[in-house]
Amino acid sequence: MTPRVQEYDVVIAGGGLAGRSLAYYLSKEPGMAGARILIIDSSAPYPHRSLIYWHDGIPPLPLIPAASFTSLAVDAGTTQQILPLERHHLCLTSSRSVFRCLDEVIDANPRITRLDGQVSRVRSHADAVEVTLSDGRLVRASHCFDSTFPSTGVKARLLMSGEVRRVLTPHESFDPSVATFIDFRSGEHHPVHFHCVLPISTREAFVEVTRIVPSGVAGPEFPFEQATSAYLRSVWGVGDFSSLSVERGSIPLGIRSSSPRGRHLRTGTPSGVVKATTGYGFTRILRQAERIASSLASTGLPEAPRPDRRFRWYDKPVLRMWKHDPERAVQFMKAAFTSHDADLVLDFLDERTTFPQEKALLGSMPVTMLLQPRLWI
Ligand SMILES: Cc1cc2nc3c(=O)[nH]c(=O)nc-3n(C[C@H](O)[C@H](O)[C@H](O)COP(=O)(O)OP(=O)(O)OC[C@H]3O[C@@H](n4cnc5c(N)ncnc54)[C@H](O)[C@@H]3O)c2cc1C
Repeated sequence: MTPRVQEYDVVIAGGGLAGRSLAYYLSKEPGMAGARILIIDSSAPYPHRSLIYWHDGIPPLPLIPAASFTSLAVDAGTTQQILPLERHHLCLTSSRSVFRCLDEVIDANPRITRLDGQVSRVRSHADAVEVTLSDGRLVRASHCFDSTFPSTGVKARLLMSGEVRRVLTPHESFDPSVATFIDFRSGEHHPVHFHCVLPISTREAFVEVTRIVPSGVAGPEFPFEQATSAYLRSVWGVGDFSSLSVERGSIPLGIRSSSPRGRHLRTGTPSGVVKATTGYGFTRILRQAERIASSLASTGLPEAPRPDRRFRWYDKPVLRMWKHDPERAVQFMKAAFTSHDADLVLDFLDERTTFPQEKALLGSMPVTMLLQPRLWI
């Protein structure tokens, strides 16, 4: 029997951050007011997580962050350096708060339908796209925006894995006006890892420990909890704390951006939108979704922001450093922050700098640091 086909204007495959952001921006486009939109998401529990992001005065969504900072502490070798942010705010929120904000708009749009289901295949034809679900259901639409991982997987060069622990200390231990952005101090540099500390009060903070390792290389499990305990003890003098929550996860780094296949456009992580060297994707995903929605509304054709090749060129040696010589990557990250204006570095990580700014930024780094890794495989 031929399966009953459901017809939509837009199918959004994957209802995580990228899928909901797109539904949100499509709902805000007057030109898309009549569009029938379907969001398909597998009903697996979403791995909610803390999200760190920054903005330069205009918050990306009407969100009230759990914490917002205008001073960054970065590791400058033996000490920490406090860098003021003149233009940016570094913020902490959670995927729960972001989803609440997006869902308020999505749920008010009567043309949006949500469907629990596992997308198993997307086929693009000249006049439509066909989405097949694992239970055989078939959906047809003019466009499919797909943030699910292809069944063949995606090729990531490196994996950024880490743990975020919300800690409560018995004594006043943190300065809630300063975010510790990167800190390599922890006694042991082997294997290389770094911490971020985002306090929400003098006794409570989100402490993140991160490692970057080549993907596909199975190594011994990294003792995240011990690393954070050792760091808090040796760097912050905190010998005793309780953990209010713990999140663990991995971000694939260095996924190549994908080209649209007719009416099938990849979005979110599988599209390569997560910044290759930092793992930050939240504001980039919002920008991607906003751009797709506005171009679809104005021209009928979805256009995703194309990655600037210049930034791919800058990312490559950094990724190679992480792969082949992590100690050098540590020196590079320390040098990048401590020898420059922190606002400029955040703009650079956001790929919003101009070429002369990049020349100034990279020109003061030891040349060998940038050039030599280009020769590595
Ligand atoms: C642990 C971790 C921490 C991160 N922290 C930050 C941070 O602090 N700041 C920042 O800017 N970025 C961060 N990121 C990067 C990025 O912002 C997030 O990964 C973001 O959630 C990516 O959005 P996405 O829509 O691509 O993926 P997700 O949000 O993971 O959404 C994918 C959705 O697709 C659904 N799905 C998958 N397969 C199928 C299928 N076959 N059929 C139907 N549905 C399917 C899933 O159920 C899920 O809902 C982090 C990423 C991770 C993994």
